Amino acid sequence: MLAERTTRISSSPTMKGLIAAERLRQAGVDVVDLSAGEPDFPTPAHVKEAAHAAITGNFTKYTPNSGTTELKRVIAARYKADYGVDYDEAEIIVTAGGKQALVNAALTVFGPGDEVITHSPGWPTIVEQIKLAEATPVIVTASPDDGFALRADPFLAAITPRTRAIVINSPANPTGALMTEGEMIRIADAAAARGIWVILDLCYEKLIYDPAAHNLPRVLVERMRDRTILTGSASKAYAMTGWRCGWLLASREVVAACNAIQSHSTSNVCSITQKAVVAALGGPQQCVTDMLDEYRRRRDFIWALLSTDPRLVCARPAGAFYLFVDVSALLSPDSLRTSAAFCQALLETKHVVVTAGEAFDAPGFFRVSYAASMERLEEAARRIHAFIGDLDAGVHPPA
Ligand code: GLU
Repeated sequence: MLAERTTRISSSPTMKGLIAAERLRQAGVDVVDLSAGEPDFPTPAHVKEAAHAAITGNFTKYTPNSGTTELKRVIAARYKADYGVDYDEAEIIVTAGGKQALVNAALTVFGPGDEVITHSPGWPTIVEQIKLAEATPVIVTASPDDGFALRADPFLAAITPRTRAIVINSPANPTGALMTEGEMIRIADAAAARGIWVILDLCYEKLIYDPAAHNLPRVLVERMRDRTILTGSASKAYAMTGWRCGWLLASREVVAACNAIQSHSTSNVCSITQKAVVAALGGPQQCVTDMLDEYRRRRDFIWALLSTDPRLVCARPAGAFYLFVDVSALLSPDSLRTSAAFCQALLETKHVVVTAGEAFDAPGFFRVSYAASMERLEEAARRIHAFIGDLDAGVHPPA
């Protein structure tokens, strides 16, 4: 009855936890929601003030489909300051979150018969977008024994004559792992030699905890500017998930095609949001540093709390705001068989919402988003340990 493409994709599993948590909350349950990757901080005050000023000043009409010149200039200045790369206004489009930037890129570059390489564990939307664009996803796997580091070798080994593009998310969701500049140089050289596109999702670019050589945009721009697509988002760095603002930087040709696609779907990002993001990207960056410092404290806190049980195995992540916990030692054929069953039972009995590794093509794990207060993190850890205590006592039947 429905179009064939609907059979190829499924709805976002990273948003399912959020919905389950909301349902419990509506039922009056004290739920600890560590599911969606969403900062708990309020949007910074000066950003909200810019939005108020936009409304009061009647900046409430259409803008150019690709975004205001003002915002595109601020994005260009941000990338120049952060990475030393030069993009002009015709090489930038403002999108409804990083998600739309990535789907624009997919629909612009991929097509039937193309293979697109990306990595697992990974954000499920990337794979679904490849399928939506009628291309074939080719998944390379990062190893937990290597801290899930994004290495060039598996990407290079997966290249075939049909490879159209490589999509990399660094820092990565859900592992927080990074790709180093050295690994990216190897990918860029191979891609440039074969005319393969590299799409770099920088959604978590501002969330790197320790000094790391992570100027991946410059590596790509210096080696293969024409085949480079950079995407980013205001959501995580500036606590602006609900405002829906991301961006894409690429050649004029790519941006013109994205612009055409977007002009027939969502058109411009909300005018008020655009004014707010000008203040976010163009204003003082201390708010970003302050949130990063707090996330670092939370990371160390929840990591230490969970690690008291050696069966909850996880590395301390280098970036993003997720712990990716190996829970396989707690699964068994006689009790909870899968991490999905583990997470469902944790939700039902202790009202803690985390995201099962299955969502990221990594069964045996669960993801904790530590973009939550210390108090909630402590409560989550207490309930998770109590849940494991119940498991040890044989309380839970097989799921
Ligand atoms: N990217 C976030 C996450 O992984 C938000 C959810 C989504 O948009 O998929 O939780």
